[in-house]
Amino acid sequence: MADLPPLREVIARHGLSASKALGQNFLFDEQLLDRIAAVPGDLAGRNVLEVGPGPGGLTRALLRAGAKVTAIEMDTRCLPALSELAMAFPDQLRVIEGDALKLDHNSVMGGEPYGVLSNLPYNVGTALFTRWMGGEEWPPLWTSLTLMFQQEVAQRIVAKPGSSAYGRLAVLAQWRAQAKMAMKVHRSAFTPPPKVMSAIVHVEPGEMPEGVSAKLLERLTEAAFGQRRKMLRQSLKSVPGAVDALEGIGIDPQRRAETLEVGDFVRLARVLG
Ligand code: SAM
Repeated sequence: MADLPPLREVIARHGLSASKALGQNFLFDEQLLDRIAAVPGDLAGRNVLEVGPGPGGLTRALLRAGAKVTAIEMDTRCLPALSELAMAFPDQLRVIEGDALKLDHNSVMGGEPYGVLSNLPYNVGTALFTRWMGGEEWPPLWTSLTLMFQQEVAQRIVAKPGSSAYGRLAVLAQWRAQAKMAMKVHRSAFTPPPKVMSAIVHVEPGEMPEGVSAKLLERLTEAAFGQRRKMLRQSLKSVPGAVDALEGIGIDPQRRAETLEVGDFVRLARVLG
């Protein structure tokens, strides 16, 4: 295994002060990083996409676990430190300079299946997650997502009906995938510490329910949760046929969106599709 200088030394040597604009909160604790890298199971020989490696803390843990890592980083200041890491782990790390929001991840990964692991920049986390979870093509080329979020966002992803956290994000994450809270991470683990607590969510794709359009399902949840305090007969008025379809599948239109199971939204989308 490569003998690497401590991360803090690498950061000092390359002058990598954390940039707020780029959502930079770095992790240095190797044990914690190894635990995060272990969430998806054995990574030896697996293709992994990491968004935002920064100075490379999580990247090191992924490489130690034997993963073949492709890392997308938009902060050019981090590239020299990442090149050193690539040299220390020959043929295991490829670094791509760019904005992960603008790149086609499947092409970047050469059309091969891959797991995603990332301590996401908070400002782009939800946008990337929505993209990974959306679209009509299922199963996706990614085989798992293991992602750091603000704890409040992580709770919305894994939320169950009846809770205030339950909404569009929960339905999006759960209608054809399993999403679980893998680990909470204290704010003091980061440098600099963010204002709020964080958590790792792990998602694996499941079966695509037959006869359901992702676009229609998203439209339904947008309407239903856009006015979450209203009864469904009011909030779903903007989707033609939705209120009648509700009654057709035995759901009382006087209920509110947050009382519906994820499977109820799926049934509704199927009837309307
Ligand atoms: N992975 C490192 C760690 O765990 O210590 C750094 C995590 S830091 C929260 C987020 C990283 O994502 C930063 O290095 C930042 O420059 C990078 N980043 C921010 N926006 C990005 C984007 N749109 N595409 C790629 N990288 C981005």
